[in-house]
Order: sequence, then C-alpha cells, then structure tokens
Amino acid sequence: MTPDNFSTTKMYTLFQKHRSRQLGSLLLMAFSALFLLGFPGEGPMITSEAGGYAVQTAPPGTVRVPSDSATKPESDAERVRRLLKEQLVVGHNGQPNVDGQQLFSVALPLVQTGSLSETATTESTEPAPQAAPPDSPADSPADSPANNPEDSPTDRPPVPAPPSARTIVWDGQPRTVRVPVLMYHYLSTPPANADAYRLDLSVSPELFARQLDRMQAEGYTTISLYDLLAYLWEGTPLPEKPVVITFDDGYVDNYFNAFPLLRQRGMIATIFVITDFMDENREGYLTWDMARQMLADGFSIESHGRNHISLKNQNRDYLVWQALGSLETIEYEMGVRPRFVTYPAGEFDEQTIAIFESANYWAGLTTIQGATHNTDELFRLHRVRVRNTTDPDELIRVLGLDW
Ligand SMILES: [Zn+2]
Repeated sequence: MTPDNFSTTKMYTLFQKHRSRQLGSLLLMAFSALFLLGFPGEGPMITSEAGGYAVQTAPPGTVRVPSDSATKPESDAERVRRLLKEQLVVGHNGQPNVDGQQLFSVALPLVQTGSLSETATTESTEPAPQAAPPDSPADSPADSPANNPEDSPTDRPPVPAPPSARTIVWDGQPRTVRVPVLMYHYLSTPPANADAYRLDLSVSPELFARQLDRMQAEGYTTISLYDLLAYLWEGTPLPEKPVVITFDDGYVDNYFNAFPLLRQRGMIATIFVITDFMDENREGYLTWDMARQMLADGFSIESHGRNHISLKNQNRDYLVWQALGSLETIEYEMGVRPRFVTYPAGEFDEQTIAIFESANYWAGLTTIQGATHNTDELFRLHRVRVRNTTDPDELIRVLGLDW
C-alpha cells in the first residue's frame, strides 16, 4: 500500500468513526492541503485491488461530474467522495499527469476499507428523493411527492444490503449449472414508426406481465447474478427453478414498466446501464435516482460500458477506460461496486475479457444463446433472448431447454 493510499484509507476510517462534521472538516482541510502541497514521494496515486489497475485515466475533459449534486442533499460520505474527486480531477499537485491525461480515480481504495461499503449501503441506496417508486406503468416522475430532506443518519432504519454488496470468493472447485438468463431491452409498446430493430428489442408491458405470471405459475424464482456466482464459486444452493432476468441499455421504460410489474410479484432483475448516457441525463434512459430505487428493492445495477461503443478490437487503454470508468461511476452513484458486464452489441474479444477480469469484474454476459454456465467461462455467459413474439408458452418451452 502506498503512503498516499494509506493516508486516504486511514483518514476516511477516522472520518467515519467520529462522524463529527467539525472533525470531518478539519480532516478534509488537512487532506486537501496534502494534495495541494504534495504528498511525500511521487508515484502512482491510487491503487486498486490486487491484480487490478493502479489508476484510471481518461481523455481530458471527460471527467464526470455528479449530475444531481445541486438538487440532492449531500451525505457525509458523498461529500468526502466529492471532495476527494475534485482534488483528483486536476491531477496530482494540480498538474495533469505525464500522459496529458487526468486522474480521477478515487473510489477504488476507499471502498476496500469496508467502512465505506457499509456506509454507502445505508446512505446511498435509500429511495432517492426526486422520484417516488412507480405504482403503475403510467406513473410519471412529475407526479412525485416533494423531496424528503435528509435526516441524521442515526434516525434512519437500516436498509438491507443489496445483492451486489455480497462478497463471493471462488473455492477453486469447478462447477457447471443450467440457469436461463433472460435478455430484455425495451419494456414498452414500440411507437408506430418503429423499425424492425426496435420492434425486435421491445416487449410490451402486457406481454411481460403474462410472461412473469406464467413463470411464477410454473415455479420459477428470479435470482440475481450474485446468486448464480455464489453457486458457481461457493456451491451456495439455488432454488429449484432459478431464472435471471436482465435488461440491457438501461431504458427508462425499465423503471416505469418493468420495475412495478416485477415488484408486485416479488421478483427481481438486473439492469445493465450505459453510464455516460445516464450522466448526460439522456432522454429515454434511466436516471441515477431511478437506479437507486431499483437497487434498494433488490435489483442489481451493472455495467454495459460507458457509451455503448463496441468493446471488440479496441486497445488496452480504451478498454480500461470503459471498464473502470463505468465501474467507478456505478459505484459512486449506487454505493456498491458492479461486478458484471454485458458487452455492447454482444461484441468482445480476448482482450476485452482480460481487461474486464483484471478490473475485478466477476463475469461478462454475451448474446450467445444458451443456459449452461461453468466456472471456466464466466466472461462468456450465455443468455436467452426474449422477443416481442415470445408468448408465455414459448417462454416456458425455451426456459426448459437444455443448452
Ligand atoms: Zn446494448
């Protein structure tokens, strides 16, 4: 551990321990001064987990800024992270690093302390203030009640840890399991002028509801990808008929249509989001507040890369930027680190896998059709595509396939 990293970790732990705003301010001032004046000794500023990348770099001007910092009450943990980020945005000692690129990684060493993960679970995953959970597919965020001002952390009931907060370690034993992982995209009725592509990627809420009802009637239980990994790595038992529901791209209809239908039935899903699109508040995509609400209800928020550009035939630095950039953004916004990636357009190669694995992702999901997974092929997980023509009978037939 470098002295820099040690200071960061130690200071953060102290900050968490005392919980005093006064002390926190002093610590932050001291920490800021250290950054401005320079730490003793140069070298890599940030270290990641063993075997991971030391720093994250990005082209100048691409450093992200939290989109909702002006409207959302800032918790202590968020404030620490923001201040630390702001210090790092300009690089060590206020200078861009030697490559002319800027450092902006800070979340990685912090979350390893354990204290942050704990804090983040209680502070970052509570229902977001801007939008109330939708009770029906027709709800709109404009109808939501006003913000709920931040209470002191001790007044809040504890929020159960999301599945993604689990730590799973492979015991070294090879395992194979057949668990269908369903792949959805849009969960809405396509517009009248929709092209064939959009039509193929769309399932209407009405059809989705019938699919869910039928799966429940047939005894299927939705599990998370963490449950799947817990079986493959540790042998943790799965329900009799497990199924994973995934959504690629993070369209806003996942929140307004899929989320309430799943929640009414006590079911969960995994949403693979495009982090730059969410940071831009791009129309048609989830907001971070929506994602936090789904996370708080047991959903997983995982990476589909930063901008949906193909991860195939790309150089190492670019892949690092995609892998760690999306990871850190999700971790910053959700309070828990994502561990799964779906490759945009299903495109990947050996280098893609090597980089994402090295960045401490646990598995990658493809668009290759199939339902059998094993510990040797975690970055080539197969899925089952659900189309707008997949009626409940067809879905049950496909779920039963041994492939
Ligand atoms: Zn996609």
